[in-house]
Amino acid sequence: MPGFELFGDKERAQVQEVLDSGVLMRYGFDGMRNGHWKAIELEKALAKRMKADHVHLVSSGTAALTVALASAGINAGDEVILPTFTFVASFEAVLSVGAVPVLVDVDDTLTLDPSAVEKAITKRTKVIMPVHMCGSMADLGALKALCHKYKLTLLEDACQAIGGSYEGKPLGSYGDLGCLSFDYVKTITCGEGGAVLTNDPDYYKNADHYSDHGHDHIGKDRGAENHPFLGYNYRISELHAAVGLAQIKRLDNFLDIQKKNYSILRKSLQNLSDITFRRVPEGGIENYSFLSFYMPTQELAQRAHKALGDAGVDSCFYWYDNNWHYHRKWDHLKDLKGLGYFSNQIYDGLPNYHNSDFTKSDHWVGRTISCLIKLGWTKNEVKQRAENMSRILREVL
Ligand SMILES: *Cc1c(COP(=O)(O)O)cnc(C)c1O
Repeated sequence: MPGFELFGDKERAQVQEVLDSGVLMRYGFDGMRNGHWKAIELEKALAKRMKADHVHLVSSGTAALTVALASAGINAGDEVILPTFTFVASFEAVLSVGAVPVLVDVDDTLTLDPSAVEKAITKRTKVIMPVHMCGSMADLGALKALCHKYKLTLLEDACQAIGGSYEGKPLGSYGDLGCLSFDYVKTITCGEGGAVLTNDPDYYKNADHYSDHGHDHIGKDRGAENHPFLGYNYRISELHAAVGLAQIKRLDNFLDIQKKNYSILRKSLQNLSDITFRRVPEGGIENYSFLSFYMPTQELAQRAHKALGDAGVDSCFYWYDNNWHYHRKWDHLKDLKGLGYFSNQIYDGLPNYHNSDFTKSDHWVGRTISCLIKLGWTKNEVKQRAENMSRILREVL
């Protein structure tokens, strides 16, 4: 998945143009910039590739989620439904706008289980936030139907799934709002960066203002701009956008490489009858950034993960024990260990996660192994890896 693996002259040339102009900020300084508007150019390129009417770049994927929630007016005490298997950023963003993260089970798609989502909906629910972990998506059709039925906002965390699609729509552009991350380990990178995708002009305008202190960006003089509402600084810099501009042009090439490598590894495991693969919902095409499969039991998954590591087959993850991605290790969330103030509404509103029953998530995630697909592997390395994986898993089974 990591765009940093294939990194070079094109990225350097883009950054050099920004350095030569001397304007590192995305707004203003019109006379000095020699016509370079890297953030705007990248937004246009993303809008085209992601088939979204509007794209607004920000400083990270976490910022994108925060800005997206704020842009839709999500507020103190509102509930946001998100999966037990995600990245900590998803609930951080919810908390940062004063809202309440409500964790819900995943199913064999490794993303939100629509039936568990419906059970978790209350009068305070405002958003369903599927997280397309490891390159593949939730059953978005079912989630969209729930959003219609209960008048909720569908916000896709597509930070790990750029390039995948659902019913012909690029992931991130199917919901009311979608977020992408361009941090250093994502499929394409800016170093740090993120994007909010939407077809709603009001959400877009709000995102644009909110991520720059509430500036309305009307008129040329920043000092004379008005502030229709409060905001913060979640701006991306021109340097970061320049890197992303080089990378977005390479995205489809990266996806081709991922798919080729993924397919070779998957084929080598196909005839191990005890292994099953993660379900991709009908109408979905993953971005092939990970190959995720289920072992028959949790114990066998743990043994297989260890055996793969011992044999030097690197970058295979056992998420069940992972600090960043799975609910079991999120004591800081469960205990609300903030440095500062959590509103009473969050304290009162948060489910007691210490007592929550996520047996269904554990059933799937406890048996999952996900292998990162790298871009930089040589043909021989992929072949060798496929042989090793198949041999090791056969031994474990
Ligand atoms: C990486 C990631 C984020 C956050 O992105 P950053 O750019 O690192 O802030 C959010 N959600 C998921 C699922 C991610 O993988």
